[in-house]
Order: sequence, then structure tokens, then C-alpha cells
Amino acid sequence: MTIAIIAHDGKKAEMVQFLNEHQEILHSKNIKLISTGTTGEKAKRAGFEVDALLSGPLGGDAQIASGVAEKKVDMVIFFRDPLAKHPHEPDIFMLMRLCDVYNVPLATNPATAELLLKGL
Ligand code: PGA
Repeated sequence: MTIAIIAHDGKKAEMVQFLNEHQEILHSKNIKLISTGTTGEKAKRAGFEVDALLSGPLGGDAQIASGVAEKKVDMVIFFRDPLAKHPHEPDIFMLMRLCDVYNVPLATNPATAELLLKGL
């Protein structure tokens, strides 16, 4: 299965920590990770194999949204920073909307993401 990971700047450290804490499940379930650009770079630096797309503000969220619509993405883990403003807000809403349109599990914080991974 393919899981998309995205973290806003204020949440990137939390994403790396989350990946590290769940690396056993991520490796054991034959999971392919895709991500927005900078999130992917951070995850790669932490030793994860990730297919990094464009950076979020440059269209990465839109690319992942397109993957959701094409049924190529099975789960989205998106650590949003609720305390920051984002120039690509329309893309963020598009991604979340398409997750709902296609009934794709979407976690926007580590607590929910953990429950989703435990449910695999
Ligand atoms: P980034 O994009 O991983 O390239 O920083 C995330 C986002 O801002 O949506």
C-alpha cells in the first residue's frame, strides 16, 4: 500500500519522530511512502525510503491529491500546522476534500496517525 506523508514546517520534526517510532510497522507491511518535497528530504535523511514529489507550496499537495483521485494513494498522514498561514491553502483543502470524496483515511495529527497505522 502507498501512504503519503506531508508535514508543514512547524511539524516536520514531529513527522520524523513519528516515522522513527513506527518504523517497524512501516517496514513490516510492505508500505511505500510518498511525500511532498521537503518532508521527503527530512524523512530520507532519517533513513526512510521515500518517493518525494514537489514541495508543498510548489504543487506537492496537489500531486498527492491527484494520486488520491487516481486511487494510487491509500492513506494520507498530513501533520498540518494549525498555527501558521500557508500560501497553498487551496491545495491543502483540495487534498483533504479529495480524501473525503474517495474515502481515503486522512490523519492530521500523530494521535490519529498512530491509530490508523495500528489498524493496518
Ligand atoms: P514540504 O510541503 O514537505 O515541501 O515542506 C509540505 C506543505 O507545506 O504542504
